[in-house]
Amino acid sequence: MKPTASPSAPAAAGHPGWAPATEAVHAGREDLAALGVHAVPLDLSTTYPSYDSRAEAERLDAFAATGARLQGPPVYGRLDNPTTARFETALARLEGTGTAVAFASGMAALTACLLARAAEGLRHMVAVRPLYGSSDHLLSGGLLGTEVTWTDPAGIAAALRPDTGLVIVETPANPTLAEVDLRAVAYACGSVPLLADNTFATPVLQRPAESGARIVLHSATKYLGGHGDVLGGVVACDEEFARRLRQVRFATGGVLHPLAGYLLLRGLATLPVRVSAASATAALLAARLADDPRVTAVHYPRLGGAMVAFETAGDPHAVIGAVRLITPAVSLGSVDTLIQHPASISHRIVAADDRRSGGVGDRLLRLSVGLEDAEDLWRDLDGALAASVAGPAGHGGTDAAARVRAGGS
Ligand SMILES: *Cc1c(COP(=O)(O)O)cnc(C)c1O
Repeated sequence: MKPTASPSAPAAAGHPGWAPATEAVHAGREDLAALGVHAVPLDLSTTYPSYDSRAEAERLDAFAATGARLQGPPVYGRLDNPTTARFETALARLEGTGTAVAFASGMAALTACLLARAAEGLRHMVAVRPLYGSSDHLLSGGLLGTEVTWTDPAGIAAALRPDTGLVIVETPANPTLAEVDLRAVAYACGSVPLLADNTFATPVLQRPAESGARIVLHSATKYLGGHGDVLGGVVACDEEFARRLRQVRFATGGVLHPLAGYLLLRGLATLPVRVSAASATAALLAARLADDPRVTAVHYPRLGGAMVAFETAGDPHAVIGAVRLITPAVSLGSVDTLIQHPASISHRIVAADDRRSGGVGDRLLRLSVGLEDAEDLWRDLDGALAASVAGPAGHGGTDAAARVRAGGS
C-alpha cells in the first residue's frame, strides 16, 4: 500500500461542504430528526433478539470472513454497538478517513493495531521516541510478541525490514511535544503503514491522514472526551485496515462501552471550541514561562495546541506540591488544567536511560491547559514556581535563578 491521503468511503463521506466545526456537531447524528429525537439514543444492549438463527449464522460467517460492519442489529455487544458506531463515524469524518474503530482505551487501540499486523507475520515495528510511556513499554517489552527498532525520523527508511508491520510516531509527542514532519516520515515508510498518534493535536489542529498516515490513533480519554470522565481509544483508518481491527476487537474484547461512546460523541461536539480556547491560553502561558528565569526551557509546538512542557531551574516536585488551582494529576485534555512530572508518572515505566535519550529529563513538567482564566492559571503557576526555587534553606532559589541567567538551558 502506498502512503496516500485516505480516500473517503461512503460510511464517513458525509457532507463534503461542511467545515470541521459543523462536522463536530452534526457528524454521526444525521438520522436523528428522522428518528424523531434530538439527543443521540444510548443503546446499552449486550444482546439482540432474532427469531431467524439461519440469517444470524450467515451474518456471523460474513463478519468472520471479512470484518465488515454487520448490517442490521449487532447480534452481540462485542461485535458492534449503534451508539459507539456514531462516535466512530463522527471521528472518521473529522480525521478525513474512510472509517474508524473504537476501543476501550488508547492502549487497547494500539494493542489491536499491533496484533492486526503481527497476525500477518509482520512482527517488527519501527518507532520514534518519545512515545507515551505505556506505548513505549508495550513496544519495548515485547508483550505482544512484537519486536521494535527505535530510531529517529531520519533513520526510518534504513530501519525497515521485510517483516516490518508498522512505523509508529507521535506528533506532537508525549511528553516533550517534539514534532515530526509527517509528510517526510510517510514518504520514508514506503509501503509500510504509518501509524500517527494524534492524541495531542486532535483533528482540529492536524489531520495526519492528509499527510500520508494510514492509521491515526487517539487516546479518546484525552481531548476527544475532554472532561476527564471517560476512557476510550479510537483508530481512524481506511476500511481495509478497519476490517482487521474489528476482527481483533471481537476476538480480544477491548470494546468501548456504549456509554463511553455516547460521552465521546458528545465531547466531539465541543472539541473545536475547547481546543482553540485552551490553545490560546497555552500560547500565552508558554510565552510567560519562556521569559521566566525560574524556567530553563519551554517546549511549545509550532502547531500550537493546549499542551506545554517546561523544565524548571529548581525542584520540579516542589511545583507539583505547590499548585492550588491546577490539579497535579496524570492525563490531559480535560476542561481543567492538569500538571504532572513525566519522569515520576506518565513515563515512569520507561527505563531511565531510554527516557533521557527520548528527551524526558528529570526537570521536565507537562502542563495540560484547560479552560480556566489565563491570569488565574498564571498566578497559580507563578506561586508554584516560587516554591520550586525557594530551597530548603531559603537561598537555593537564588542559586537556581543565577544559573539560568548564566545561560543554563
Ligand atoms: C494517554 C495516551 C495514550 C494511552 O491512552 P489510554 O486511553 O490511557 O489507554 C496513548 N497515546 C498518547 C499520546 C496518550 O497521551
